[in-house]
Amino acid sequence: MKIHEYQAREILSRFGVPIPKGIVAKSAEEAVQASQNLGGDVWAVKAQVHAGGRGKGGGVKVLRRLDDVKAFSEKLIGSRLVTPQTGPEGAPVGCVLVQEGVNIVSEYYVSFLVDRVTQQPLLLASSAGGMEIERVAVETPEKIVQVQFDIEIGLTEEKAITVINRLGMPDEVLPQAIEVLMGLWKAYVSMDCTLLEINPLVVTADKRVLPLDVKMVFDDNALYRHPELEVLHDPLQEDPTELRAHNSGLQYIPLGGNIACLVNGAGLAMATMDTIKLFGGEPANFLDIGGGASTERVTAAFQIMVEQPEVKVILVNIFGGIMKCDVIAEGVVHACRNVKLNVPLIVRMKGTHEDIGKKILDDSGLPIVVAETLDEAAQKAIELANKEEK
Ligand code: GDP
Ligand code: MN
Repeated sequence: MKIHEYQAREILSRFGVPIPKGIVAKSAEEAVQASQNLGGDVWAVKAQVHAGGRGKGGGVKVLRRLDDVKAFSEKLIGSRLVTPQTGPEGAPVGCVLVQEGVNIVSEYYVSFLVDRVTQQPLLLASSAGGMEIERVAVETPEKIVQVQFDIEIGLTEEKAITVINRLGMPDEVLPQAIEVLMGLWKAYVSMDCTLLEINPLVVTADKRVLPLDVKMVFDDNALYRHPELEVLHDPLQEDPTELRAHNSGLQYIPLGGNIACLVNGAGLAMATMDTIKLFGGEPANFLDIGGGASTERVTAAFQIMVEQPEVKVILVNIFGGIMKCDVIAEGVVHACRNVKLNVPLIVRMKGTHEDIGKKILDDSGLPIVVAETLDEAAQKAIELANKEEK
């Protein structure tokens, strides 16, 4: 789960990380009020969306006049911000963060993440702050510092100092920098984050070490340990189809191809996509209806699939284990009758009550193509999809 920068800042400050002063504003008037309350004569106004690259997309500006704060906030709030990370449809801006302007001397990149290879946390840092880390990795990999450590031991001050020295931070900010890194680590591990990214972390003229931008992503599987985070969820930042799928208990990820897949079990869903790819087809989505799939859930899945204009054929691949084939078959028949099925449907089912399931599909009188093997199902799907494309 992602949260907004203004929310992540609050969490960091609870863990003792100093943050620049800032106030959230939901209207241009509030933004002006916020600037006045913050004082000073420079403010950074930042669109709050669940995507990076806001600077490039025109969602962040450093301003010196209240009129400019007003005009810029007016333009942003209620609009959709397109950044290199959002796609052409952009993300809705519900509010802006007005932040005290800080006098930057140097910028760095710092993040904590999980290294899947070693299954341990990794501290990634770079002296090329403010730049996309992916680009730094390609163009100037020598500027990236990687430090791995044991999750049980955590980040030690010693390791933090090594990183700070390798970044070449000025000596006089060492104590502040240690405090920031240790605080970031504490927040990362305590909140079960999968990513905590500060880009840029800055050293200011008055010798402060401050995160100017915070990206915090939580491990969905650990959310039950943090019920207080639920209120931070912003459904408006999510793809409406993905949100609907999630609310129906479906694991759904759109993939852009033309063969929609409805499968029970994540492993089988992966195998189905692989098989489609193997024969030269393109899956439209990953869709796992899960173990205890009900008729309602199957119907919801069909509804989502038929609404996608790029979908030219639907492939249902079911393994009947605890979930019996006849139950799924009934769900499929019910769903087909309830949604306007406008594309061919191929069903392959194996396992418990397979025969009863197939009979239900046959007796339904619906134009369902039954396949015996996954290979056959994938090949038929590709053939029909190609025909529909013409
Ligand atoms: P992102 O583009 O979504 O990563 O948004 P950021 O929060 O990182 O803002 C983009 C850039 O704006 C940063 O890399 C900074 O260089 C700059 N920026 C943000 N806040 C301030 C500020 O208070 N003062 C100055 N001078 N620059 C700022
Ligand atoms: Mn940034």
